[in-house]
Amino acid sequence: MGAGRPEPRPTARPATRPAVRAAVPQSFQTRLAFAFVAVVALTLSLVAPVIVVRLDDYFRAQETQSLERRAQAAVAVLDRLIGDRVGTRAVLIVNNGRTVLNPEVERLLRDDGALQLVADRVAEADLALYFGPAALDTTGYLSPNPDPRLHYDAVTQITPDPGQARDGAIPDAKAELGRANAVKDWGMVAVLSNPYTSRATTLSALTGILLIMAAVAFVVSMVVASFLAYRFTTPLMRLTDASRRMKEGDLSSRVATDELTRGTLEIRELSTQFNQMAARLEESVAIIRGDRDRSRDFLADVSHELRTPIAATHTFIELLQGPAGEDPAAREEFLGSSAAQLDRLDWLAQNLLELSKLDSGLVLLDLRPEDIRGTVESAVEQQLPTAERKGIALLRALPDRPLRVRHDPPRVAQVVGNLVGNALKFTPRGGEVRVSVRAEAADGARIEVVDTGIGIPPHELPLIFDRFYRGAQSSEARSTGSGLGLAIVKSIVDMHHGTIAVESRLGRGTRFVVTLPHDPREVTAVAAPGPDAASPLDDPAEGG
Ligand code: ADP
Repeated sequence: MGAGRPEPRPTARPATRPAVRAAVPQSFQTRLAFAFVAVVALTLSLVAPVIVVRLDDYFRAQETQSLERRAQAAVAVLDRLIGDRVGTRAVLIVNNGRTVLNPEVERLLRDDGALQLVADRVAEADLALYFGPAALDTTGYLSPNPDPRLHYDAVTQITPDPGQARDGAIPDAKAELGRANAVKDWGMVAVLSNPYTSRATTLSALTGILLIMAAVAFVVSMVVASFLAYRFTTPLMRLTDASRRMKEGDLSSRVATDELTRGTLEIRELSTQFNQMAARLEESVAIIRGDRDRSRDFLADVSHELRTPIAATHTFIELLQGPAGEDPAAREEFLGSSAAQLDRLDWLAQNLLELSKLDSGLVLLDLRPEDIRGTVESAVEQQLPTAERKGIALLRALPDRPLRVRHDPPRVAQVVGNLVGNALKFTPRGGEVRVSVRAEAADGARIEVVDTGIGIPPHELPLIFDRFYRGAQSSEARSTGSGLGLAIVKSIVDMHHGTIAVESRLGRGTRFVVTLPHDPREVTAVAAPGPDAASPLDDPAEGG
């Protein structure tokens, strides 16, 4: 019938698991306290019985020894009393073929009460006395051979001390004695039993004290355990609090520094790590927020910048649709202005696209070990017509020998072009713009663009590299500039791991200094210095 198919094995009872778990305290503090107390309780329950057993053994050995000593004493006293009574006469006599005790001795023991006296005063225990002949044994000792019929008993009648009781657990103590006698050698054996001892009472008193001590130790251990568990878990709770506050959005939440100096090594380490992690997180979030704010501002700026030419074009079109459209001169002017606005729109869009490509890292530099003089030369040449038109002298000072620097020529030309373009824009007719190139330390290159223009106020210097920043001074430039030129310049220089610095005096002129390393790929950790870094400007030869 049911052959083959094994019966399903009964599974472990899962119902008991949750019950057990519910019984176990869940908090670490309680568990820790319980563990301490359990260890103490276990220790006490193991140690206390051992102590009691050891004490009992000790008392028993003491009492056994004492009883043996008293047996020896009892035998000695009786020997003396019997000797005094019988003198040289026989202690054992033979009567009708039977060995009996000398009646004198019997009288001494019974009628004169010697037996009871020895039991009460010497043995302090029940006394059984046996007489018999004695014979030399193999060791030459005269040892008695007790005759069960010559047997005398005395039950001790002393009044026990308080706390004393008959102690049946003490083994009987035996003492024997053999005596040579002219008539017949004799001997006796004394057996002491049931002595009064205070062993049981002492032991129970000690057990009581031990129990009280154990109870006190238990209570103390509970208090100490609770305190220690509290101490151990407090830093953990602080840590939990700090992380909870973080979860709720308070990124400045940290574990208090005084906690870091107290507590165990591991918890200290954990708290330090937590604080470092929190600091990093806060920093990252601040950076992300900053980026977000900048993006928002940037977007606002972009839409504003785009709206202006669109609105202007819109106005021109409306005017053209009106009566002004009939007038050929006005029409030409409006159409020309519209075209200019569209050009500006196109230019803005190109700049924006360029900047976003540079920032996003989509642009990969095409680095070539070319003579930087050629790059600068071509960039300056493109600006010559503008300089001529504006009546500004555009001068070049290039080194005689080639200066090979690994760079992206079109991008570096863009940098020089933007700088020269700005210089021409902000320099009045009759002024001068000078572009110079020379070798820099460690085989790098240094490009300077110096003008004799309107200059930049000191408070604007840190801002000019920001996107859409246009100086308040340059009213003419406001209409033509976008505020993106220097941002693009800075991005390109940064990509080359170079530096850019500016120095300016109002009404006297401005100097931009760009340094490029010999090979950007060899520059590893770059802490890109701020645009106002002073080092490139410290040039004694070219002062002011
Ligand atoms: P823009 O397209 O407006 O020139 P830039 O980013 O190139 O934008 O320049 C930002 C601002 O820096 C300019 O509006 C101007 O105020 C200032 N600036 C730049 N170069 C010069 C210079 N050579 N002389 C005076 N001001 C300058």
